[in-house]
Amino acid sequence: MTAELHVDLDAFAANLAEIRHRTHPAEHMLVVKDDAYGHGLAPVVRRAWAEGVRWFGAFDVATGRTVRRALPHARIFVWIVATSEEAQDAVAAGLDIGVGDPVLLEDVAAAQGRARVHLKIDTGLHRNGVRAEDWPAFVSRAAELERHGAIEVVGVWSHISEASDADDDAARAEFESAVRVAQDAGLRPALRHLAASAASFARAEFRYDLVRVGAFSYGIRPAGGASDAELGIRPIATLTAPVVRVGEGTVTIGIGSLDGLPSSLAGAVGTPGGPRRLTAVGEDESIVEAWPGAAVGDTVSVFGAGAPLTATDFAETIGTIGEELAVRISPLVRRTYSAG
Ligand SMILES: *Cc1c(COP(=O)(O)O)cnc(C)c1O
Repeated sequence: MTAELHVDLDAFAANLAEIRHRTHPAEHMLVVKDDAYGHGLAPVVRRAWAEGVRWFGAFDVATGRTVRRALPHARIFVWIVATSEEAQDAVAAGLDIGVGDPVLLEDVAAAQGRARVHLKIDTGLHRNGVRAEDWPAFVSRAAELERHGAIEVVGVWSHISEASDADDDAARAEFESAVRVAQDAGLRPALRHLAASAASFARAEFRYDLVRVGAFSYGIRPAGGASDAELGIRPIATLTAPVVRVGEGTVTIGIGSLDGLPSSLAGAVGTPGGPRRLTAVGEDESIVEAWPGAAVGDTVSVFGAGAPLTATDFAETIGTIGEELAVRISPLVRRTYSAG
């Protein structure tokens, strides 16, 4: 027996339905970076497609191509394109490309085939977007390339911090003005997108035509924000580990920091005898308070179903976010999936 990360795909489907309900009529892009936030890319995208999700946010070209192999007809958005070879690969795979610098714009235009492009304005996060002062020249060049048939500008987008409403409002004002400048340059981008999980739920005016939702799809709520119940989403991952030794008053379980458990993790885990304290995280084993009748081969739930804490709760005990905990679980920990 080994540690396992168990993913409840029915709960995932329920989260997707809730997201669609909350953000309708915006289109819904499922963000699947970091191996679908640690949940395992292929099973996640297949189930999402079966549930009607048509847009996937893949981050980089390698991930985008993996999603393409699983889903020949999906719209797949990538926004990290490092070289002209990658730009060529992205166009060849029929990916939608987020373009936030003039060099990449030329690369995708030079690629064989007509690139589908989403132009990125920097609205304050300073992560690969075009600054407002450079935007007019950028969109006018894009319009020229579109007239020549080298690209098709299907979107204008940006990313916001979702850390304060005031910052987000300022970012949205910049975004609106960038869209107008693009339109004045002769572009007709059908898809404006700005919001990730938090803003897509909380703030209707941030939804525009499409929302890019990662965390909430996996039932990972924002730190210090609304509860799972208020959001109508639930965690979909359960991390379990087997009991490998029973000692005096303590039990050793077969999971540790090399499997991705933060070594500072502390809190209650679920055992056959009820909740018990996790008292130490070692490299490949950890220590839990004993319960009556504890035996080698028993299963302990570290977080998720059968555990007192969700991944997000657990993450908060050490001052990080649920997303961080989920994506850190080593890819060597086996993922298992259930669907009813
Ligand atoms: C990660 C990411 C998202 C999704 O963010 P969540 O808060 O997990 O929903 C959306 N857009 C971009 C550009 C991202 O990098």
